[in-house]
Amino acid sequence: MARNIGAACRICRRENLKLYLKGDRCYSDKCSFERRAFGPGQHGQSKFKKLSDYAVQLREKQKVKSMYGMLEDQFRLTFERADRQKGVTGENLLVLLERRLDNTIFRLGMASSRNQARQLVRHNHVLVNGKKVNIPSFLVSVGDEISLKEKSKTNALILENVEAVARRGVPSWLELDKDSIKATVKTLPHRDELTMPIQEHLIVELYSK
Ligand code: SF4
Repeated sequence: MARNIGAACRICRRENLKLYLKGDRCYSDKCSFERRAFGPGQHGQSKFKKLSDYAVQLREKQKVKSMYGMLEDQFRLTFERADRQKGVTGENLLVLLERRLDNTIFRLGMASSRNQARQLVRHNHVLVNGKKVNIPSFLVSVGDEISLKEKSKTNALILENVEAVARRGVPSWLELDKDSIKATVKTLPHRDELTMPIQEHLIVELYSK
């Protein structure tokens, strides 16, 4: 499956926000955003940038798309699904993004980034309700039990990640048993728990043009 392989740190600098795309590096003093908190390229340090409404909406969409590691078509389809649901489209969109299996694995701390989580899913490490699921865009539902293949439970990288999960914490819509590395989806994700600065109404405005 295709994915965005652009230089992750450039994306953070372009969006002027730490998007935590590179796992442990993002929490260290090697983070490029911490070292060079200005946009990439020749005009990255220019202070005279007045963005149009359209550009602001576009940047917001690009930011969220990059955050979840998605390509345009996937992101658009997710938006269309959110738009068909009852309720507030922007919030629906964020809930759908959070429910992705790769994001859930990242939120549970089994992976240090969404990119790494996607690899774990694709490489058949993850079980949902006891069955192998290797589709990163699979949406988890309330009551689902997420675990790892028996062999994967001794994977050093995963164990290290789970130990480090205290650094980020597990959101309240998930419950993780660290000893068995097994989790349950308690509720649907809550908008309030997304602490990253996201203005989803700008994405709705962009796609509603
Ligand atoms: Fe972004 Fe992580 Fe790179 Fe820092 S290290 S700029 S947070 S991807």
